[in-house]
Amino acid sequence: MTTETHEFQAEVKKLLDLMIHSLYSNKDIFLRELISNASDALDRLRFEGLTQAELLPEEELRIRIAADPEARTLVLDDNGIGMTRDELVENLGTIARSGTLEFLRTVEKSSDASPDLIGQFGVGFYSSFMVADEVSVLSRRAGEEDATLWKTDGSGEYTVETAKRETAGTTITLHLKAVDADDGISDYADEWTLRQIVTRFSDFVSYPVRLTVMKKEEGDDIAKAVETEEPLNSMKAIWTRPASDVSDEEYKEFYSHITHDHEDPLLHLATAMEGNFEARALLYLPSSAPVDLYHREMAHRGIQLYVRRVFIMDECRDLMPEYLRFVKGVVDAEDLSLNVSREMLQQDRQILAIRKHLVKKVLESLKALKQEDEEKYLGFWAQFGPVLKEGLLPFDEKKERILDLLYAATTHDGHPLTSLSGYVERMAEDQEAIYYMTGPSREVLVGSPHLEAFVDKGLEVLLFSDPVDEVWLEQMPPEFEGKKFQSVGRGEIDLTSKEEKEEQESDRNQEAEAYKDLIQCMGNAVQKDVKEVRLSHRLKQSPSCLVVDEGDLSPQLEAMLRQAGQAVPERKPILELNPDHAILKRLQEIFEKDGTDPRLSEYAELLFGQAVLAEGGHLEDPGAFTRKLSLLMEKAL
Ligand code: ADP
Repeated sequence: MTTETHEFQAEVKKLLDLMIHSLYSNKDIFLRELISNASDALDRLRFEGLTQAELLPEEELRIRIAADPEARTLVLDDNGIGMTRDELVENLGTIARSGTLEFLRTVEKSSDASPDLIGQFGVGFYSSFMVADEVSVLSRRAGEEDATLWKTDGSGEYTVETAKRETAGTTITLHLKAVDADDGISDYADEWTLRQIVTRFSDFVSYPVRLTVMKKEEGDDIAKAVETEEPLNSMKAIWTRPASDVSDEEYKEFYSHITHDHEDPLLHLATAMEGNFEARALLYLPSSAPVDLYHREMAHRGIQLYVRRVFIMDECRDLMPEYLRFVKGVVDAEDLSLNVSREMLQQDRQILAIRKHLVKKVLESLKALKQEDEEKYLGFWAQFGPVLKEGLLPFDEKKERILDLLYAATTHDGHPLTSLSGYVERMAEDQEAIYYMTGPSREVLVGSPHLEAFVDKGLEVLLFSDPVDEVWLEQMPPEFEGKKFQSVGRGEIDLTSKEEKEEQESDRNQEAEAYKDLIQCMGNAVQKDVKEVRLSHRLKQSPSCLVVDEGDLSPQLEAMLRQAGQAVPERKPILELNPDHAILKRLQEIFEKDGTDPRLSEYAELLFGQAVLAEGGHLEDPGAFTRKLSLLMEKAL
């Protein structure tokens, strides 16, 4: 095939433009990105070689870096899996990864320049354009005859042409920009600089990284390529080294290597399993939630599985439950077969045992963090709390240890968030349940009429507003330290004590009798919207509120299920009216004068409408509601 010119996808153009004009000071990272890609390519070849030995080269699997200070080029060469022409076009001409697309959107939205943002996202191959003004990639896929040369100067286009390459692998040639200390561009053709960067960022890469530099020996006219004798990296798998030997810096570098996340991890956790099954793991909790946290199908780079130091697969989901999907790292199992397939893993007893061990370790280290550094823990909670709470859903999970890690907004003074144990400690002796309320946001919940009686009695209520809360609290409420969870917006709630009740009994009976007909009349007016109208014992200041009947779905959960396309049976709430409120008293007077007064049904509709609004709900006909309200305001003036 002849040379073809292609245009980069619009997003790639943007990304290249960002890289070329990057203000990001740590430009050295481009080398880590390229070595990391080469190391991935070698992993993939070694893996395919397990079943197709003919794909493996005769020479060792390695990464070679060649620098030519005079020509100002830097070449990275690997004898890994390589790419076909189509793969080159697909991988280097377009961006499929949601993470990178999201990165571009974030950059576009933010007004300040983006150096830190670049640091947070792995932009991979394209980071070469921070240091080079021309890049070519010569690649040949293992098992194929033809090679392809891909070339660009970073403007809108690139070319591809058929080319020759002796063996499979990829060679990337960078034409380096001029050294510019102010701009953070070091001399990337300099041996010492390259050594430094490789040892710092890629020491643990499990293939040798060899360096060739053009050198003029004494008496030579022209420079000769001289390869260093030792690889630049120690190649020691970091998880096999005793933790006391590994510095924090090394742990962080390894994290960036496997995740391409340039932000430091929140914490790391090295653990070994002994006994029937042997395995080692090095796990990390990221500091920030990745953009694909809720788009699981697009996520990549979770837990990598190795078997006896041989890379087997990325994103091994069987090793971590969904609710811990933010955990990254490496697991190296001793007793698995190198030929394990994803399908086999699901059933594998060893994988199940490792998973159990890892879950225990992760939850333990979160608990330790919560106890030792609450502020840092709350940082974690803000990022990953909603995901962790998904662990309260499955039946097989031990809920107590997740509840132990839970924080929630609260009505308790001065505490924006509380742990459950904090809540239980503050409970009065005779308080039997943990009171909670769910709703669309903390702000809506704080203003809810349902809280009035609780605030009045000095009872603390937990406020849950993540969508997942609806599910675990409403569907299968667990117990915590022997205490049940009790929704304040559900069923009949009556906080009056037994003695008070006895005292008030005759009053209440009278009240019920007195209001009976009015309630009936108002019930008729709103019967299409509510199941029942009744007098309330939970309201103090508000005239009305909506209550979910015991056993019914909460309105938020109902909306979630509908959104997910599930058929949800028609459900109507109960409208509760406050018998002590002036509105109700006045309505009673009107009713006594004339039971057919049209104001009665108008008020019933208005009381229902405001109860819907108070819980952050949507009115079916907001126009009709506001018209009624305006009319009323006009009359009142
Ligand atoms: P990422 O590595 O995060 O997926 P990159 O932009 O760095 O993103 O690379 C895009 C893709 O190009 C890689 O996923 C890989 O499939 C391919 N690729 C990059 N470098 C190499 C290489 N040296 N050998 C084989 N494939 C490579």
